[in-house]
Amino acid sequence: MLNSFYAKLSALFLVLLVGLGIILATFGMRAARQYADEVEQKLNRTLAEEMVPRFEPHLKDSIDTESIEATIQSMTGINRRIEIYLLEGDGTLKASFAVPDAEIKQRQVDLAPVRRFMEGDELPILGDDPMSAQGKKPFSAAHIEIMGRKGCYLYVILGSEKYASVASMVGDSYILQTALWGLGVIILVTAGVGLLLFRRLTKRLRGIQAVVADFEQGNFDRRVEVTSRDEIGRLGECFNRMADNLTETMEELRQADRMRRELVANVSHDLRSPIASIQGYLETVSMKDGDLDPEKRQHYVETALKNTKRLNTLVSELFELSKLETKQIEPTIESFPIAELVQDVVMQYQPRAEEQAVDLQAELPERHARVEADIGLVERVLSNLIDNAIHYTPEGGRVRVRLNNERGEVCVEVEDTGPGIPEDDLPHIFERFYRVDKSRDRDKGGAGLGLAIAKTILELHDRTLEVESTVGKGTTFRFRLPVESEVERQAA
Ligand code: ADP
Repeated sequence: MLNSFYAKLSALFLVLLVGLGIILATFGMRAARQYADEVEQKLNRTLAEEMVPRFEPHLKDSIDTESIEATIQSMTGINRRIEIYLLEGDGTLKASFAVPDAEIKQRQVDLAPVRRFMEGDELPILGDDPMSAQGKKPFSAAHIEIMGRKGCYLYVILGSEKYASVASMVGDSYILQTALWGLGVIILVTAGVGLLLFRRLTKRLRGIQAVVADFEQGNFDRRVEVTSRDEIGRLGECFNRMADNLTETMEELRQADRMRRELVANVSHDLRSPIASIQGYLETVSMKDGDLDPEKRQHYVETALKNTKRLNTLVSELFELSKLETKQIEPTIESFPIAELVQDVVMQYQPRAEEQAVDLQAELPERHARVEADIGLVERVLSNLIDNAIHYTPEGGRVRVRLNNERGEVCVEVEDTGPGIPEDDLPHIFERFYRVDKSRDRDKGGAGLGLAIAKTILELHDRTLEVESTVGKGTTFRFRLPVESEVERQAA
């Protein structure tokens, strides 16, 4: 508990507050005292001067202490406590009145304050109090003649006893007492409010700490409740963002791991069946070489060859995808007429389309734009999409490759009248090895890598591959490429 942030903060705050209170009280008392001195001195500024004519007759031949003390009594009354001294021209104490001689502690008075007083300097001016060793008091002073010696001083210490100690001064003053009480109450209230505020503040910190500790224990779903935009609120936000990123990364890692396992499983499966088939046919040919009629032999060898080609395609596609994903292939962006590329690829696939009785045609706009992309990679995307479209479209169906000029872009569409893709499968068709018809004879379809390759190529161009499909009606794949900028065209 004592080690907690709250305890440390509170202790520091209380120490500072009490310190501040003491300093304030000390300064306040000192100011009050100085004020009292100032008032006393101002009120009695001319006291000494007024006394001089009354004292001088008793100082002509000798110092007539009795008469002087009687004069003092008649002037000040009994209650008034003042001490009166006669000083020589050098400040030495010559005589004192209304003061027992035993109580005199200083017999030499510093004359500098006395001269300043008599020159009319700003009040208060404190002078030496002969009754205390170090004390300074307000006073009144005037020149006086003692036994024919001019240049002596009548030195009157004012209110000497009254404010001797702070305690007596406070005890006497209702205003000072009230002020001190007020200060005490203010300090108490501030301390209370401060401690409450600290408690609220540290409670929020404790809340964050609890969530972080929970996170550490594996509860990745808990988040800090952010209620304000101050530093603590922002700390909570930062933690929440960090937690989101961490969980996202963990999820991605988990997914990557799952995909890696699936990839290994799929690759082994897809490699195993053609290899087993090649092995089987070649063994048969090798064992029954003499007994086989040439036709059968030819069939076996051709099947083995077909499987070898399949293997070759699969391995090359895998290799290509892996290079694309690890960014070993960087697109070389150049500008080229997309319509010409589309026409070339469509022509390449024409024989296969005719073979499958599929009507394959390109629909091109009148104005042929030039796009900026890697021509080889875009050709690969087109081939994969057209290949799939012809592959999945039944006899008598239609495949259209369409170009549309849009603002700053050319939209490329490959549309077919094939069986379409069920809605549930649509989000997955771009995954590696994903096939809608899992039971499909693998001889017929590809390895399930064609769309993954097309999508990765477009991602390398910062583009997306979109798909729209209606089961029973057909499928449309669509992507957009940027047209060559005006500046470059003029430069070319
Ligand atoms: P494959 O090599 O199996 O064609 P792809 O990655 O090219 O692999 O496609 C993934 C899956 O998406 C295919 O197995 C197929 O089920 C579906 N598919 C792709 N293109 C079409 C299309 N034009 N019409 C219907 N289904 C398609």
